[in-house]
Amino acid sequence: KPAFDAERVRKDFPILHQQVNGHPLVYLDNAATTQKPEAVIQAISDYYRQDNSNVHRGAHALADRATEKFEAARVKVQQFIHAAERREIIWTRGTTEGINLVAACWGRSELKPGDRILVSAMEHHSDIVPWQLVAAEKGASVEPIPVDASGTLDMAALEAMLDERVRMVACVHVSNALGTINPVEQVVRLAHSVGALCLIDGAQAVSHFEVDVQALDCDFYAFSSHKLFGPTGLGVLYGKAALLEAMPPYQGGGEMIESVSFAGTTFNQLPYKFEAGTPDIAGVIGLGAAIDYILGLDRAGATAHEQALLAYAEDCARNTPGVILVGTAARKTSVMSFLLEGAHPHDIGMLLDQQGVAVRTGNHCAQPIMDQFGIPGTVRASFSFYNTRADVDRLFEALAKVRQFLV
Ligand code: PMP
Repeated sequence: KPAFDAERVRKDFPILHQQVNGHPLVYLDNAATTQKPEAVIQAISDYYRQDNSNVHRGAHALADRATEKFEAARVKVQQFIHAAERREIIWTRGTTEGINLVAACWGRSELKPGDRILVSAMEHHSDIVPWQLVAAEKGASVEPIPVDASGTLDMAALEAMLDERVRMVACVHVSNALGTINPVEQVVRLAHSVGALCLIDGAQAVSHFEVDVQALDCDFYAFSSHKLFGPTGLGVLYGKAALLEAMPPYQGGGEMIESVSFAGTTFNQLPYKFEAGTPDIAGVIGLGAAIDYILGLDRAGATAHEQALLAYAEDCARNTPGVILVGTAARKTSVMSFLLEGAHPHDIGMLLDQQGVAVRTGNHCAQPIMDQFGIPGTVRASFSFYNTRADVDRLFEALAKVRQFLV
């Protein structure tokens, strides 16, 4: 593999090479969604041009080709996150659906009144609300694990909260709002010490560094294809086989059954038990191409490049009057959330867009942590390996103009 070179990698992403509002695009909204390399776009187009067919049930060449590519992508995902078995990889619509699946299937069958579910205070809404829904149904509670002013998870507080009524601990691997990398290995260990399960929301992690679900020993790990340079509408839920085996199905329909009769229906084996209906075949093949693309890069070099970009951006922020960083944990990746004194995040976002710089503003679907900090939201610049120091310079040039205009 050639040494990592962001300028060369940028050429693989056609969308980056355009003008927005009269300026070359600077895309700094990678935590919302990542852009797609030509190889992914091509794989999806090739599928529809050559192989389009339904999977698993066809008796013809196209169906065989589609099925082969679809199942090959599952093995790519399995190897990418170092899962022990391919049947532990379930296709979903995204991180959100993966978590809802666990909350519904595991939660409805396992939770009892008085049971406790712990989630970090920096959690995305998609790792809070599904637990609240099932907790309300089962008489269980959902409690926040404290996070300090720097955006660091309070591990001592977590330890103190644990008792045998805790059944699930759910935590982001990387916070989309603050960029904090949580010590999820320890979170898993603590959860297991009282017999609880642990679900990790990896939506913001898998695109930035290598994840090994067996080394983490987590029970469930969820992420989205679209944040990993693959297409939208698709996600992955990893679960330990024994747990998935014990869980009832999620949705009913074709594919998830073994035999259907009015006397009683039996369910398919893993992973199909959780995959009712025709799946997003093109999406799965596209995600497979995204993983091939990532594995073709110098991954350690890409991670180092992203870390250097974040450090450079935060240095620029500290040297810019009026800029306040939100989220200053010791271990962070790729997200710089900030405020500008005297200006509302929404107005900043609009004025940056007018200068061709795409960021996100608001509470980033993490309202509880914004409430804790006493702010309505932040401006968030989030980086990927195809961003450069020139992108960061453009952000701060644009911010200087925003300051002149608003402050
Ligand atoms: N968790 C985290 C940490 C996220 O950043 C996101 C996306 N913003 C999600 C969950 C939800 O992902 P999706 O919308 O793709 O289901």
